[in-house]
Amino acid sequence: MRPVIQGLHHDHIDGSAAIANVIQDLYRLAGKEFPFPDLAAWRAFFQNPQKDIVMKFATVTSVMQTEEALRLVGYEYGRHRAREGYAYVEAKFAPQYHTAGGLTMKQAAAAMFGGLKRAEAMHGIRILPQFCIGREASPETGLEVARIVLDYDGEAALDLACDEASHPPEKHLPAYRLTFGSRVRRDCHAGEWVAREPAVDYRERLLQNVRTAVEVLRCDGIGHAIPLVHDRELVARIAGQGIRVAGCPGAYLRTGLISDIRYLGIDRLIDAGVLYTINVDDDLFLPSMAETLDLCEAAHGFTAGQCAKLEANVFSAAFGFGPFD
Ligand SMILES: [Zn+2]
Repeated sequence: MRPVIQGLHHDHIDGSAAIANVIQDLYRLAGKEFPFPDLAAWRAFFQNPQKDIVMKFATVTSVMQTEEALRLVGYEYGRHRAREGYAYVEAKFAPQYHTAGGLTMKQAAAAMFGGLKRAEAMHGIRILPQFCIGREASPETGLEVARIVLDYDGEAALDLACDEASHPPEKHLPAYRLTFGSRVRRDCHAGEWVAREPAVDYRERLLQNVRTAVEVLRCDGIGHAIPLVHDRELVARIAGQGIRVAGCPGAYLRTGLISDIRYLGIDRLIDAGVLYTINVDDDLFLPSMAETLDLCEAAHGFTAGQCAKLEANVFSAAFGFGPFD
């Protein structure tokens, strides 16, 4: 069977399909010429695996450097997700990539927050922003992001994103520690991306980052944790502590991180009591939710009970106040 997914816990605003709706407006606002003949050419560039991911995102973030642009994107993101039928989304945004036009990180975060909240008010969707530390940043910059998140007193979550291979989770412990004991919920990209060599301990290094995120950063949620099902002890701990695991199965398959969805053992994780949810990561250029669910259904053939849990986890494991409270 196939679940009906009404919310997202792992969704990057600047990599979302909503960006395509406004990218040309963003170039106009920035006074720059759109550097592609048309939208289709830009999409093709984004979907070309030969092109560098940093260059791809630069075509978006370079025109998200003013409050007006950020508010526009935040609003359009929320509107787009509501129109797709989502009732709840956690929207990831890393303010450090939006200061080239003179904004502070705090101003960038506030502008994005404003756009998201406008969409929330107008389109009947609950949005919890997740402000991310791009982990290549210094621990001091990480601390600054954590202070911004604390200002929102639980109305925004903290996340750690980008290059996990060179910057393991413990690098930003000071930022995470700052939120201990507060209302801030902590997420972390972990167990997705480490150096392929030495191959002998590739899986163990991914799992170690997940353990660090759980034990040291005291995360409420983990983004990815790709090999989780292969570590029984960690599965039991994550299930026992009610830590959410937001996976993006279609993205892993498309980017070659896995060769078979069954490696993730989503059905077994669900049966073990893990609060697993299915997400898209960056559906601007990675598989959509419909494609992702097709892939998962073909791989796992979920039972009715597993579908019910995948659907319920969207709300029971939400960091924001759910739409039903
Ligand atoms: Zn992500």
